Amino acid sequence: MREILIDLKALKENLQYIKAKAGVPVLAVVKADAYGHGLIQCAKAASEAGADYLGTALLEEAFTIREAGIKTPLLAWLNPPGLDFKKAVSQDIEIGVASLAAFDEVNAIAGAKIHLKVETGMGRNGFSDEWPELLNRDLSKVVGVMMHFARADEPNEIQNKNQIANFEARVSELKAKGINPIRHISNTAATLSNESAKYDMVRVGLAMYGMSPLGRDHNLKPIMKVRAKLVVVKELPAGHPIGYGATVITKEATKIGIVGVGYADGIPRNAVGAGVTFNGQSAPLIGRVSMDQIAVDLGSNTEAKSGDWVTVIGENYDIYDWAKACQTITYEITTRISGRIPRTYIES
Ligand SMILES: *Cc1c(COP(=O)(O)O)cnc(C)c1O
Repeated sequence: MREILIDLKALKENLQYIKAKAGVPVLAVVKADAYGHGLIQCAKAASEAGADYLGTALLEEAFTIREAGIKTPLLAWLNPPGLDFKKAVSQDIEIGVASLAAFDEVNAIAGAKIHLKVETGMGRNGFSDEWPELLNRDLSKVVGVMMHFARADEPNEIQNKNQIANFEARVSELKAKGINPIRHISNTAATLSNESAKYDMVRVGLAMYGMSPLGRDHNLKPIMKVRAKLVVVKELPAGHPIGYGATVITKEATKIGIVGVGYADGIPRNAVGAGVTFNGQSAPLIGRVSMDQIAVDLGSNTEAKSGDWVTVIGENYDIYDWAKACQTITYEITTRISGRIPRTYIES
């Protein structure tokens, strides 16, 4: 018995907070199964809460949104040439391109709406060497121009300013060709920290799920909670090894709880220093994360027994704690946690 609780009311409140803060239209990013929270449910909730656009990395993700009957304006931006762009256009999916080959394919389709992704310093997908040649094409189907920050979570880094300057230069070149597309460059971190980067729309993922890349933010509420039942609770004496590699030996007699979540469920194996919450009490992880289970130290005085619920993510160990314990970022924890655990949607 395990479950991921997803609070869609919290998602809506987070989005409304972001909308008010941004003061410009908001594209709600729902790629990667809505960062592990469930693509369709989150895309619907975001639309209901007033998202002006939805955004995905993959065209397949965009198709899934349309198949669910969601009609919100929709942009997919990670597109190699050779995809089914005709189908995308027929479903009114706007298409991000970053290569001439993809541009030419999409540009040949009547009614296509193109967003140009430009290189400004991220060194990832965005027009760079092909840009001058692109400027000689018919650009009448271009409706958007976008870039992505490499260091938006470090607001004082000069690279942010440099990227904006490079972006401005690309926009001017488009203007000189008579093209005035909507400009959108800000992710969550930039939306929360950079007043001069909002332009015509912001693209927000993480904040909608209740987290900030800048650290805990009390205006946002994480919408994911993971809980599981204790499979076994048992007393072990001092000197007892725990788990693979016997990386921990009990120092004193204690009660160990076995919780049925492991790295196959997206709990990273390198977790050290996280734990679960029983009845408001912290029970730290003890020993290695296994494929299907973890062991936690409930303490010798615990009243916990097998079959009781513990909160794995949420309460005393939240997503930030788990990210820190796994030497990663909150994004990676939620996108991976979805594994085998069923999701329950609530509107608290
Ligand atoms: C994922 C992504 C975003 C959203 O980033 P957050 O930090 O989650 O807000 C915005 N733009 C692009 C291009 C992305 O790939």
